[in-house]
Amino acid sequence: DTIGGNFDRTVAAFGDREAMVECQTGRRWTYAELSEVVDELALGLLELGIGKGDRVGIWAPNCAEWTFTQYATARIGAILVNINPSYRSHELEFVLNQAGIRLLVSAESFKTSDYAGMIEEVRPRCPRLEQVALIGGPVWNSLLENGKAADRAVLDEIVLSADDAINIQYTSGTTGFPKGATLSHHNILNNGFFVGELCHYTEADRICIPVPFYHCFGMVMGNLAATSHGSCMVIPAPGFDPKATLDAVATERCTSLYGVPTMFIAELSHPGFEGYDLSSLRTGIMAGSPCPVEVMKQVIERMGMAEVSICYGMTETSPVSTQTRADDSIERRVSTVGRVMPHLEVKVVDPETGLTAPRGEPGELCTRGYSVMLGYWEQPDKTAEAIDRARWMHTGDLAVMDAEGYVNITGRIKDMVIRGGENVYPREIEEFLYTHPDILDAQVIGVPDERYGEELMAWIRMREGKTPLTAEAVREFCTGKLAHYKIPRYVHIVDEFPMTVTGKIRKVEMRQQAVSLLG
Ligand code: ATP
Ligand code: MG
Repeated sequence: DTIGGNFDRTVAAFGDREAMVECQTGRRWTYAELSEVVDELALGLLELGIGKGDRVGIWAPNCAEWTFTQYATARIGAILVNINPSYRSHELEFVLNQAGIRLLVSAESFKTSDYAGMIEEVRPRCPRLEQVALIGGPVWNSLLENGKAADRAVLDEIVLSADDAINIQYTSGTTGFPKGATLSHHNILNNGFFVGELCHYTEADRICIPVPFYHCFGMVMGNLAATSHGSCMVIPAPGFDPKATLDAVATERCTSLYGVPTMFIAELSHPGFEGYDLSSLRTGIMAGSPCPVEVMKQVIERMGMAEVSICYGMTETSPVSTQTRADDSIERRVSTVGRVMPHLEVKVVDPETGLTAPRGEPGELCTRGYSVMLGYWEQPDKTAEAIDRARWMHTGDLAVMDAEGYVNITGRIKDMVIRGGENVYPREIEEFLYTHPDILDAQVIGVPDERYGEELMAWIRMREGKTPLTAEAVREFCTGKLAHYKIPRYVHIVDEFPMTVTGKIRKVEMRQQAVSLLG
């Protein structure tokens, strides 16, 4: 099915139910109201000359208009290009040109980002950019007004195929420069739907989405999972804010909450946490980077998210490949990324030989099935490196699969440390450091070393009011608990880690900084 077709069915079934709430403005839409705005915008886009296959960029933090644009472009078959809200002008320019964007939908500004100013700055160098519609501005308003006046029947005449490209999503840029994954209706609609199925969503669910819409976590696992089940999308704030998120859950009686681990850590350690009534929470999703066992346990116990899932995936696979189920054992629900999603395949291969690894042995995780992207937008070489001839997507992640199919992600191939010939998975050491009562968050990287090739360095965030740990103290804590070659040689205490806007820790940047730290 197409995204528009699926959306129409939800509107027909649940038209009078709440579809979306924007907490900071108090604006709300039922499915019938949402459908009306989406149609108006879709018609307005057609009037402007935007049609099937045209690229429409969206550069804005989370807001209702983001969702309108997502569904309006899908309705007419235009390709939505998600642009990272934290980009600066040179990155914007790159995406505008790389994707050949004709219309850019954006906000005037957000926090310290003057979007309108940056757009004007790069515009002379972006010949394919024809129109800019700033949300709430004259072009945007005329899109909606023209749409209101237009004949709706036009929308039914557009012939769309579920296999058409509908979306270009750039990867987070955690390991290097982001790549644009080209995705079809079929790719993301199915994935959003199955994520929602495994969360047992119905029209009674209210999903709190503090993760960015620009990323698949927000627009697929959030919006598409919600709209394919008639659930309500709750937008706590334009950007992530732990207080706004807790407020949204409590006042909107959300049943589900999303976040990358760092977001849950921020909510759990928020000074006002104990004062919130979070009793409406039933489920939620933690994903995006390794989910520490300790944080999962706290989410279950202190937030009451009894059915919370861990999802594993990547932008290139629409995104989710594995997910834990509410009826898995508690042990597996906090320490694995679950089993393969319905209708998909996963395997673990020895990266050197390409052969499937025996169960329990580490290797590179590969995914195949409906979720694998059409390719990287206009980068056939990169596509060929990632997707092999049998259509397996090589994820670049290291994993172990047990006899029953539960997958454990041990880290990214690029983050694995080889110390004196031993493979060290930073994840394991990070998990151990989390058990220290004074440590809020810990990340481990490899740094060049003459003797061992690489040495381990732990970056640590202390809990509020705790004395920074010395390297000796950290090593003493690990002694006898971790093998000697896994004990970090260096310790660096920080307030924050270098992060992407999706809340992922940029170990590439940590490694660069570490080299200069060690002089
Ligand atoms: P880039 O590809 O640009 O370097 P990125 O890989 O972070 O950035 P995304 O597509 O947003 O971009 O993220 C996918 C990656 O996130 C996966 O390949 C994996 O490394 C990590 N990831 C996602 N979910 C999990 C999880 N539950 N546990 C561990 N790692 C995860
Ligand atoms: Mg990636």
